[in-house]
Amino acid sequence: MMRMPGRRVGILSIPVLAVATLVFATHGSLLGQSSSPAAKKIAAVEPVPAATPFVEEHAHFDEKDPAGSVRAAVAALGRENAAMILFQISPDTFDHPGRYDSEIILAEVKKHNGKLALTGGGGSLNAMIMQAVSTGDAGPEVQKKFKARAEELLRKGVIGFGEMTAEHFDGFTPYQSAPPDHPLFLLLSDLAAEHSVPIDIHMEAVPQDMALPSDLKSPPNAARLHANIAAFERLLAHNPRANVIWAHLGSDFTGFRTVELDRRLLQAHPNLYMEIKTDPRAPGKNYPLGNDGKIKTDWLKMFTDFPDRFVIGSDQHYPEPKDADKRWQETILLFNQLPAEVRKKIGTENVAHLYGNSVAPFLRAAKN
Ligand SMILES: [Zn+2]
Ligand SMILES: [Zn+2]
Repeated sequence: MMRMPGRRVGILSIPVLAVATLVFATHGSLLGQSSSPAAKKIAAVEPVPAATPFVEEHAHFDEKDPAGSVRAAVAALGRENAAMILFQISPDTFDHPGRYDSEIILAEVKKHNGKLALTGGGGSLNAMIMQAVSTGDAGPEVQKKFKARAEELLRKGVIGFGEMTAEHFDGFTPYQSAPPDHPLFLLLSDLAAEHSVPIDIHMEAVPQDMALPSDLKSPPNAARLHANIAAFERLLAHNPRANVIWAHLGSDFTGFRTVELDRRLLQAHPNLYMEIKTDPRAPGKNYPLGNDGKIKTDWLKMFTDFPDRFVIGSDQHYPEPKDADKRWQETILLFNQLPAEVRKKIGTENVAHLYGNSVAPFLRAAKN
């Protein structure tokens, strides 16, 4: 006899909208406010799927268990109403023990073509950039090796370059900083344009040189942060045929990734895209959702004014951490509030545009 916990059966019989309402009601608890324990338990246990299919365009995996990570991601597709999950490789340095790149999981991902896909370079191209920054050598030999590695990754089957970084606070991988217009970033944008693949870049927003925000520690982070927005704009302008995805919109740890800045850059650079990430455990300093769980007005206006320029990239790890609030869930609570036409673009169409034939044929099958 199949065992079905009564709780699950009960909840599944409630229409999705009713569950969504319950979760909104408890949203305050995720931000440290009180709510009824019963409602909280339901919210923690029963996920609210996306109202229409979406691509999780920025996820991570356990490099020590690639097969288990792939199993967990495939199992999550239906629960989330995700059409596809794209794994990214954390941006890393050569000095960091445990560094890895796409090869560690590629064979497992390929078994689920059309459901899972993979970017590459976080553990190699990104490390080469960090090394070039510290040695000051970005000469012809270094460029030749960089290009060869980028082309090798594409030949093996990655569908984009990521996760790269230009300003990354210490976390799973070390503190890293590089000018976004470094010669190797410019070369990467030419390679991305030539091969029609996007670049995914993690970059805390630093409009001007500034001290490290006081809630962060130095070391391991740098005590001073270098301005990077003007250099980022030079990268975007360098090759307008290279699409650049600025990761982690909604997860801002300097306080300078404002709606105003994002709007200005989207307006000025048609090749700029952004991944929406909302993490209730680390909401950062510019959060798209209010304490009531609703999208703030200026954020909603940005999503509807630039509907072709956003994708969902919640930074979810698979297997999902057992007792942590789920990033994908919070991001989908935002997604579900978007107007249907905007949701369709942000959910699947923009990803199909960015990654082309690697994903588009599979996404056409997803009903919006
Ligand atoms: Zn990141
Ligand atoms: Zn990431």
